[in-house]
Amino acid sequence: MINVAIDGPAGAGKSTIARTAAKNLGYIYVDTGALYRAVGVYSLRHGFDTKNADTVAATLPDIQVELKFLGDIQHVFLNGEDVSEEIRTPDASMAASDVSAVPAVRQFLFDLQRDIAKQNNCIMDGRDIGTVVLPDAQVKIFLTASPEARAQRRYKELQEKGASDTYEAVLADLKQRDYNDSHRAVAPLKPAEDSVLVDTTALNLEKSVEKVISVIRNKMTD
Ligand code: C5P
Repeated sequence: MINVAIDGPAGAGKSTIARTAAKNLGYIYVDTGALYRAVGVYSLRHGFDTKNADTVAATLPDIQVELKFLGDIQHVFLNGEDVSEEIRTPDASMAASDVSAVPAVRQFLFDLQRDIAKQNNCIMDGRDIGTVVLPDAQVKIFLTASPEARAQRRYKELQEKGASDTYEAVLADLKQRDYNDSHRAVAPLKPAEDSVLVDTTALNLEKSVEKVISVIRNKMTD
């Protein structure tokens, strides 16, 4: 199977770029952030402290997370319920960042990610795909952009959904998540040694997709 790992910080455009590139290449697109978000949503719904590692770890036996592909769209199920919308709120983003620092959570979601990659040609995006989940992926890309460019894009997305968050709040959240994700003890966000760096600060979506597809095609013909 052909596996492409795309890692990078929040808001670098990973999901949109990876989804479009996957469609173009005929691979499935797997958004692993959705898995951490589902675990976070479970804690939020039950009023658990997402920063307490023991509390979060203790919830895992009560949680079943599944990914299903309806057409080529990924849906995430939490104990049988489709939570694909609910996982997208800013609270769910922060909860996902919190629970993703818990080693038991990463372990809990590991096999699920590995099994999908074993069975499908896929582009999988996340934070530790090239470094931990798929160290043997044929192509590894580290996709990034300046914090301001990323916050601007997120802010626009939230505005389109009718959310009232300010740009400053979005930027502060994003910086907090960057810090959490790159400073945690387990599987911190960092480029795999054999990854190709793609910076999308000055690229629009179309150019970013072109760049990513050309990196993939070049690697495949190496
Ligand atoms: O990519 P997305 O913003 O949906 O991810 C939500 C959170 O889940 C991230 O801030 C990160 O903390 C965590 N995550 C992770 N490892 C992954 C994917 C996401 O730790 N492979």
